[in-house]
Amino acid sequence: MTGGLDDPRLAEFRNELRAWLAEHAPREPVPLHGEERARYGAVWHRSLHQGGWMGLSWPEAYGGRGFPAVYEAVLNDEIGRAGAPAAPHVGFLGRALLHHGTEGQRRRFLPSLLSGEEVWCQGFSEPGAGSDLAALSTRAVLLGDHYLVNGQKIWTSDAAWADWCLLLVRTDPDAPKHRGISALVVDMATPGIEVRPIVQINGDTEFNEVFFTDVAVPVDAVVGAPGDGWRIAMTTVGYERGPADVGFSSRYARLLAELVALARANGVDEQQRLALARAHVQVEVLRAHVNRSLARRDDGAVPGPEGSVDKLLSTRTEQLLHHTAMDLFGAAPLTGDGAEVLSAYLYSRAASIAGGTSQIQRTIVAERLMGMPRSG
Ligand SMILES: Cc1cc2nc3c(=O)[nH]c(=O)nc-3n(C[C@H](O)[C@H](O)[C@H](O)COP(=O)(O)OP(=O)(O)OC[C@H]3O[C@@H](n4cnc5c(N)ncnc54)[C@H](O)[C@@H]3O)c2cc1C
Repeated sequence: MTGGLDDPRLAEFRNELRAWLAEHAPREPVPLHGEERARYGAVWHRSLHQGGWMGLSWPEAYGGRGFPAVYEAVLNDEIGRAGAPAAPHVGFLGRALLHHGTEGQRRRFLPSLLSGEEVWCQGFSEPGAGSDLAALSTRAVLLGDHYLVNGQKIWTSDAAWADWCLLLVRTDPDAPKHRGISALVVDMATPGIEVRPIVQINGDTEFNEVFFTDVAVPVDAVVGAPGDGWRIAMTTVGYERGPADVGFSSRYARLLAELVALARANGVDEQQRLALARAHVQVEVLRAHVNRSLARRDDGAVPGPEGSVDKLLSTRTEQLLHHTAMDLFGAAPLTGDGAEVLSAYLYSRAASIAGGTSQIQRTIVAERLMGMPRSG
């Protein structure tokens, strides 16, 4: 199916989904902070799963429905259009297990990840390894039937309520830095793991520091083979950066429509008018780009460096829209009346950092998509 989001063959699915959303989408706004937001998200996750809308493009053997990728995009598109909370972004960690895990790992972990019964976090970044992820130094030493893990992760989203972590560790300190890394599935209840929440500028506590002190992890928790960690990390970030943006365009279009309505009601200055026009163009560009990417995904290709284009486009759109919203709402968000506008604006600043910074995405586009010479 290569007609992208507008393929007429999707109409029946779309109608069914629209009707379901009209009945089941939560009416209460998403709570702004921490555990309350996570609890709200968990209820929405389970509701989507019970409705049969989670794992649309995942194999049926692991709890999915086996549809082409475009169905996931339609789901996100309709959710955005309905103004419902975004579908849980679990796919990028699950896909790593789907592509690289053993059959046992897939059957054990994927159904509960899709249903929301178990929550996952991504233990990649460290204080000394973010953009240069391969510099990570959390160690895992093999001792008979288990690894002993010591080190620290940071910016680990959802770690405070996660059941499992896809953890990158260094298993071979003598190998070249990209080759000495392994990926482990770690039970977050294992003794020796300490999670310390970090309070963000918008007051939320989405991410955390995670400390590992003599944490015993069974040897069969390795994903792929020891030393495969870099490959697994690249699969994960490929899904995290690219197809995640599918459907964001309808959420952005909805926000833009709200801002245009506000501008019509209250009037705008020339700069605000230009910002709205620019945002309109960016939303349309993103939608066209998403449609093109979808056609490629339907061929079953694993997302690669082209996901950096998706991420750059959506970051730019998100930041421009929320900046414009702050401008149009005037003093209200700063004086307490419009906390969600301020919170969304502050969170939009993170879009150019999370999942790899915009500078790193531009380098990937230059070197890997355009074939320009590698920098220093
Ligand atoms: C909201 C949010 C959620 C996150 N969730 C997670 C998570 O769940 N799990 C996880 O593992 N991580 C997570 N992260 C961490 C994120 O992946 C890192 O913050 C990101 O990769 C950047 O790494 P860093 O913070 O160490 O910055 P650094 O790598 O130290 O970069 C600092 C600055 O230097 C620039 N820079 C660095 N190297 C280069 C270069 N070679 N060329 C040009 N410029 C460069 C960067 O672009 C940036 O502006 C999250 C981050 C955010 C904001």
